Amino acid sequence: MINRHPTDERLLAFARGALAGGEALLIAAHCDMCPHCAAKVQQFTETEAESAFAESDNIMESPAFSSMLASITQQPVAERILAKEQDEFIELDGRKFKLPRSLKRYSHSTGNWSKLVGKLWQAPVDIGGEGRANFIYMEKGGSVPEHTHKGNELTLVINGAFSDGINDYDSGDFIAMNDSHTHAPFSEDKDGCLVFTIVEEPLHFTSGIARLLNPFSHLFF
Ligand SMILES: [Zn+2]
Repeated sequence: MINRHPTDERLLAFARGALAGGEALLIAAHCDMCPHCAAKVQQFTETEAESAFAESDNIMESPAFSSMLASITQQPVAERILAKEQDEFIELDGRKFKLPRSLKRYSHSTGNWSKLVGKLWQAPVDIGGEGRANFIYMEKGGSVPEHTHKGNELTLVINGAFSDGINDYDSGDFIAMNDSHTHAPFSEDKDGCLVFTIVEEPLHFTSGIARLLNPFSHLFF
């Protein structure tokens, strides 16, 4: 069950198109999995559109508006064609994971899986733009050493469940972390846990022998 949602501020910024690409992608993917937030975004979008129209009565006569309308009405067709070329699943070691609709288009820009320490797998995703995106899969019993972040880390749970010593997370949960959070994710789920994550900066390992990993933390990007 989904327990963690983006804040209303974040959903409103998303509806306004004010978020950076990576963050917007994660919110869109969360909304694919969460009818509750999808309804909120829909509501925010309608309210925003109403106030935009109220501000300008003449907007419908402007050339900019006609071209915007034309591009909106053309979009669904283009998307439908594109959808056929997208993979609904990503595969790891014979396991198949269904992707939220918004992430499907990145199935072809996902690099090879590499196996890291601690029963972890990682596949980089080229989303264009800033930040680093990865699919990370924790096998049952897998863990990431305790770490903090130098920038923001946004995570969406795609399949399975994990804990981090602070909370438990389930499929669909949206998690925002920054440099004030220290956590050590692990999964005891029988199917492990697949997440999609975007970080601005490398992780910073905080405890014990894992500190020796800091020079290599770019591997955990
Ligand atoms: Zn939600």
